[in-house]
Amino acid sequence: GRNVYCFFEPSMNRGAHEQLALVQDLRRALSLEQFELHYQPKLRAPDGPLVGVEALLRWHHHERGLVMPDTFIPLAEKTGLILEIGRWVINEACRQLMEWRAQGSEVPSVSVNLSATQFRSPGLLGKIKEALARHGMPPSSLILEITESTAMHDPEASLVILQRLSALGVQISIDDFGTGYSSLLYLKRLPASELKIDRAFVKDLVPGSEDAAIVSAIIALGRTLNLSVIAEGVETEAQQKLLTELGCTSLQGYHFGRPDAAASIGARL
Ligand code: C2E
Ligand code: CA
Ligand code: CA
Ligand code: CA
Repeated sequence: GRNVYCFFEPSMNRGAHEQLALVQDLRRALSLEQFELHYQPKLRAPDGPLVGVEALLRWHHHERGLVMPDTFIPLAEKTGLILEIGRWVINEACRQLMEWRAQGSEVPSVSVNLSATQFRSPGLLGKIKEALARHGMPPSSLILEITESTAMHDPEASLVILQRLSALGVQISIDDFGTGYSSLLYLKRLPASELKIDRAFVKDLVPGSEDAAIVSAIIALGRTLNLSVIAEGVETEAQQKLLTELGCTSLQGYHFGRPDAAASIGARL
């Protein structure tokens, strides 16, 4: 009706329709300025000082309210929209870090997550250079988080990309570590500075457990390869204590602070 065509197949379930609607809204989200970065503190174990913040993307949808990245990042990946969105994220994270510094808050670094598509896109290097230059940001203050599975998917190709990024002077963190079947041969050659232990190993962590043994092994690996090791998803004092005893360099999680808007984080700096 009204010159609007709607293709409907009875087999299409509600989920598919909803996803389609969400993708349409996602296409306009950048120009409508519906994205916001929240920041979560990373602390030197056991309880500080601040070593940096991780930028986590939030979408303020006009009807749905706050939409979390696990809902829309996969759609952004599938549709290629992640490239434009990712460019905004990198720029905004650099802008915010330099704003904090201009206000006198020494935030040592900002971490930005890169999805697989972004990581493999030919324009990545240029976008990062542009963002650093625009905001006068020292490259070493930017940490790019790439999941272990992305890094190990095609390790030879990843190595080349990571070497180029590293040559810019930015730091590399291997995210969700322990879930992605690393080839140790490649891990040894990756120009990374940090391993981030996946929350799966932290969630039920107790002394003497299998998880504790795995965490110890990751920390030993980090030491051998001269990488700092951070644990994500730290929610309790018991986890904080044990992770510190096991030798984690830094910690991140609700126990220290939830991801929050720049203004709220800034007020606590
Ligand atoms: P991630 O990079 O592994 O981020 C960690 C997730 O755990 C975040 O969820 C964070 O809010 C949450 N978290 C932090 N501390 C705790 C804790 O103590 N307990 C629990 N249960 N959770 C904790 P979030 O913000 O929903 O992000 C989910 C994922 O979406 C991220 O996982 C990352 O893969 C992706 N993502 C977020 N922002 C971006 C972005 O700007 N670009 C890309 N490409 N991906 C992003
Ligand atoms: Ca991350
Ligand atoms: Ca992670
Ligand atoms: Ca994760």
